[in-house]
Amino acid sequence: MSTLRFRALETMLSRTAVKYTPPSDKVSDFFGINVFNNDAMTKYLHKDALKAVNAAINSGEKIDRKAADLVAIGMKEWAASKGATHYTHWFQPLTGLTAEKHDAFFDIHDGKAIDTFSGNALAQQEPDASSFPSGGIRNTFEARGYTAWDLSSPAFIMESSNGKTLCIPTVFVSYTGETLDYKAPLLKALHVLNETAVDVCQLFDKDITKVYATLGVEQEYFLVDTALLNSRPDLYITGRTLFGHSPAKGQQLEDHYFGSIPERAYAFMLDFETESYKLGIPLKTRHNEVAPSQFECAPVFEEINLAVDHNLLLMDLMEKVARRHNFKVLLHEKPYAGINGSGKHNNWSLSTNTGKNLLSPGGNPKSNLMFLTFFINTIKAVYEHADLLRASIASASNDHRLGANEAPPAIMSIFLGGQLSKVLDEIEKSVGDKKMSPEQKTAIKLNIGKIPEILLDNTDRNRTSPFAFTGNKFEFRAVGSSANSSNAMMVLNTIVANQLREFKAEVDVLIKKNIKKDEAILKVLRQYIVSSKNILFGGNGYGDEWLREAKKRGLSNITTTPPALDAFVSKKSFELFEKNNIFSHREAEARHEIMLETYIKKLQIESRVMGDLAINHIIPAAIKYQTTLAENVEGLKDIGMKADTYGTQVVMIKEISEHISIIYSEVDAMIEARKKANKLENGRDKAIAYCDKVRPYFETIREHVDKLEMIVDDEMWPLAKYRELVMIR
Ligand code: ADP
Ligand code: MG
Repeated sequence: MSTLRFRALETMLSRTAVKYTPPSDKVSDFFGINVFNNDAMTKYLHKDALKAVNAAINSGEKIDRKAADLVAIGMKEWAASKGATHYTHWFQPLTGLTAEKHDAFFDIHDGKAIDTFSGNALAQQEPDASSFPSGGIRNTFEARGYTAWDLSSPAFIMESSNGKTLCIPTVFVSYTGETLDYKAPLLKALHVLNETAVDVCQLFDKDITKVYATLGVEQEYFLVDTALLNSRPDLYITGRTLFGHSPAKGQQLEDHYFGSIPERAYAFMLDFETESYKLGIPLKTRHNEVAPSQFECAPVFEEINLAVDHNLLLMDLMEKVARRHNFKVLLHEKPYAGINGSGKHNNWSLSTNTGKNLLSPGGNPKSNLMFLTFFINTIKAVYEHADLLRASIASASNDHRLGANEAPPAIMSIFLGGQLSKVLDEIEKSVGDKKMSPEQKTAIKLNIGKIPEILLDNTDRNRTSPFAFTGNKFEFRAVGSSANSSNAMMVLNTIVANQLREFKAEVDVLIKKNIKKDEAILKVLRQYIVSSKNILFGGNGYGDEWLREAKKRGLSNITTTPPALDAFVSKKSFELFEKNNIFSHREAEARHEIMLETYIKKLQIESRVMGDLAINHIIPAAIKYQTTLAENVEGLKDIGMKADTYGTQVVMIKEISEHISIIYSEVDAMIEARKKANKLENGRDKAIAYCDKVRPYFETIREHVDKLEMIVDDEMWPLAKYRELVMIR
């Protein structure tokens, strides 16, 4: 095995950057060429088809069969002109990955092959998807789920070295109509959000008839050389290193952050950026991140459903393109212990048909009151449903990040910045319970009118907050780097939609009592400021101080997934989901079940890999070195050397034996704990058992393996070491 490590190192050291030249210097020359966008539709669609598609996109309704047939004709012609031979519905099952099932554009009729693609095939497909998780909704014997076209996300062509495939973004539902994917619930949430947000906007501006959420996803990732990856079964199988002593030089010097990008990584970036541009993914930013071999990219924000699809596509592209550069992209939240983890900052805001960003202050008193309305309602929503929001980002891999040193804590809190905190304080003080005097009203309006456009400079930024206001958007930073953003965004949009409905109702009650509109709005907002204050926090979110303070404030701090997921099936959440038509009781329960199952499987795999590595790779290497030491002692004795010349060797021999024996017995105990856990029927009990009874062994076993790494001869050590893994040549 150690020979594998050294061969891998040699391979890695001999690599040079793969030469990559984009098709043109100007991105505009090839941006979106593989997307069935407006231009392509105008060119290839019959005008009735185009009309039907646009109408359907605007209304959110389905298109009829006749129109679908027409669209299919045009879409196929376009796809064929690009060289596509197959098509697939592209969907997001609850595995967390995207799924495809390719069909050729041809059929057999009377024994002859004909080229075909019908409206039916475009609009609906029935993948034999019995092995996708359904949480018991769809038993395998009734394995019928179908995918249905999501018109709001355009079709695109995925290129691979051996062919091209037309991909049609779809939702995935069971035959009885229950959602089995991430996309459908997000679309439902966006639908209610539009309704309730427009209602609230109408209090301020009658021209606003549509509100949609926007999202810009910052994606962090690590790169590792494939040769080294292949010498590390743990990294290869689980996406993270289960062992590995921290390197002498890690990120202490922070010299990687924003440093110059290594050549090989740069070629990779150019390559995947080009592929992204072809698919209309508007990548804008790239840079080194804090940890060695960690990077980040971010697009220009887009309508949220599209932004989520684009992020999923991007992750897929990155993985594919990386192979051409002999890299593996690590999207895991914590590939290396003791080194920064990776997140996926979700920058979220609300936009209107009139082009207004509802979370952007600056303008006049009226528009600032509208800003404050959305701003404060978001705070209130997060406060009320903090536990559900926490549940929405819970996963086995994100557990390594949340609550650890270099990441947001598992406590949900909101950072506003000094300026806006002050504005809220003022509203709280000056809007009383009593009817406001005309002078008071003028004064507060004047104040609100004065909220300028907010430029958060670096002194007024808080990088340790899980949910931060950053000038014209909220940034939800606790989302994990490997996650599908849909889940977190579905929850965020649902709780905000729900909150806006309540707000409107409360304002209406006051207006009925003859309180003027603006005053009514201010009064309700003031109540919200008072009631949700506890979630606001501007200090260091990574400090112990905050843990104590948060506890005093009654905020939850749930650091592991199984208990965090409880909030998904609390009475409050069931009501929320049902009221907003996101999930039925059964759907929410099924989803909960699936999330627990995923958690269990992840830990089960890690535990097995750990046992295998420890017993079959680490212990043999340690014994080998121990034997060398013993032979050395023997030899020294033979030539008559005194005990003081081999005393150290004897100490090392003993130490190695101690570690080996602990590792051996701990692995045994871990296997026993696993067996016990596996016997549990109830999903939650089983997940808790894995979390509380199996997982703790990971740490003890690792501790002793990592100690051995420091003792055993480097030449005999089988696993690529941290300093090697994070090096990029
Ligand atoms: P940083 O957090 O590093 O300051 P930027 O300000 O560059 O980053 O923005 C980060 C992300 O936020 C980008 O993807 C950007 O497009 C996105 N963003 C900016 N404005 C909005 C908005 N109104 N809605 C959603 N995302 C936005
Ligand atoms: Mg950011």
